[in-house]
Amino acid sequence: MSKLKLSVIAIFIFVLSVAASASAEQMMLEYDGATHFYDGAVYNLVVNSHTVETPMEPIIFNDRALVPVREIFEEMGAQVNYNPSNQEVEVLSDSADILMTINDNIAYVNGTRTAIPDDVVPKLIAKAGGSAKTMVPVRFISESIGMDVVFDGEINTIFINSDDYNVKEQTSAFITEVTPTVTGDNSIRVDVKADGAISNYSPFVLTDPGRLVVDFPSLGLANIIDNIAVNKAGVTTVRLGVNPERARVVVDAEVESYTINPVSESELVIDVVTKVNPVVSMDTQVAAAVVNPQAPSGTKLVVLDAGHGQQDSGAIGTLDGQTILEKDIALAITYKTKEILENNGISVILTRSDDTFKTLQERPEIANNANAAIFVSIHINSVEGILTANGTEVYYAESNNGNTYGTTSANLAQNILSRMIANMNSTNRGVKTAEHAVTKRCLMPAALAEVGFITNETELRNMLSNDYQYKTAQGIAEGIMMTLENITMPR
Ligand SMILES: [Zn+2]
Repeated sequence: MSKLKLSVIAIFIFVLSVAASASAEQMMLEYDGATHFYDGAVYNLVVNSHTVETPMEPIIFNDRALVPVREIFEEMGAQVNYNPSNQEVEVLSDSADILMTINDNIAYVNGTRTAIPDDVVPKLIAKAGGSAKTMVPVRFISESIGMDVVFDGEINTIFINSDDYNVKEQTSAFITEVTPTVTGDNSIRVDVKADGAISNYSPFVLTDPGRLVVDFPSLGLANIIDNIAVNKAGVTTVRLGVNPERARVVVDAEVESYTINPVSESELVIDVVTKVNPVVSMDTQVAAAVVNPQAPSGTKLVVLDAGHGQQDSGAIGTLDGQTILEKDIALAITYKTKEILENNGISVILTRSDDTFKTLQERPEIANNANAAIFVSIHINSVEGILTANGTEVYYAESNNGNTYGTTSANLAQNILSRMIANMNSTNRGVKTAEHAVTKRCLMPAALAEVGFITNETELRNMLSNDYQYKTAQGIAEGIMMTLENITMPR
């Protein structure tokens, strides 16, 4: 249960011009041998649906943006060269080579002399006291190398997209209902329903101020135009927007993590964990593991399930010529999770405590027979042929998401994922659903964590380190403890 399914989400972007509503920021900038006061718009940058952090924000001159050349165009796969002796900037890509000179409006595109529009020329710009960045006109270069540039004044964002990401669709259905529900001190769920299929969506997080934006390219918005005030759980508003080409849902909050899961073809839920109220903090010192007695009735027992075992090795990796098995890493992390939970006074049972084999039926039976409050299975992911795939994901089975003991498996999975990401700093691949044999047979909230990819060298090296295993265990334990707070066991 560790193969990654790849899916392609078509990304769609709409066109707005630089809007007057763009937020202004006051900065002192040094360029052309003088200090200038800048109070123009400040934009975020999203390249192929990834938010890109740059040492210098895009600067707007004559309604056109200058952006740091290296961070942006290397993100797009171009090669960037700057020659300080003659102040020439070269952007080399598969589709075009562009040569520009600082403060010169003549550029050479594939050797052809070309005027840069509106005299928005490349400049060396520094924030007061900082080092100068090479800033170039984003639209001129992007369009020369076949990328689309879109200014979205509604959310102060510049989108740069390669053609592959730019799949336009006809509006085929409408969003009819958007319902936010506060689910915790720092979490909110937004239920989005449409009167037809939600075939794709494009989420991204922006900062300063923080927002989660989810665009629905194929959807319009029915009669719900009002913003929804929340003012709880770190969320101020859920806003809705529409133009002829797409519907948009914006959650105004500093976003810690989020997941989006389809409920049906025409409904999905957006779960957002915000950065207010750090949820759990605790001593990470751990005591030596002890053999755990059976928990007395009425207590909240946790069952941890280290994936695979004995003849079932799970996923197989190699590092420095050595063969590494999923079953061994999973057991090491399971032991550390047990230690942390026990150190916090929580009773834990393991489905296997050494390299033995337990069937997929026996594992949930252990939890069911022990009347456990929570079941968590720990696994390591793998994918063939994509060495760059990395990150953490947590599953639950929709067939076992009943409101058991006051919470759900979805909530357990979300809590575990958000605390894992916070502790491990790994890529957040989201909460997912799958009918795993172990989780679906449990009678209590159950989740299955895929810690990281055994096929990714960096992540594998991390997962073999004691330190990272403890961070992983800490995240799983915190997620379990958060969920236990909402659980009341029948007496
Ligand atoms: Zn596995």
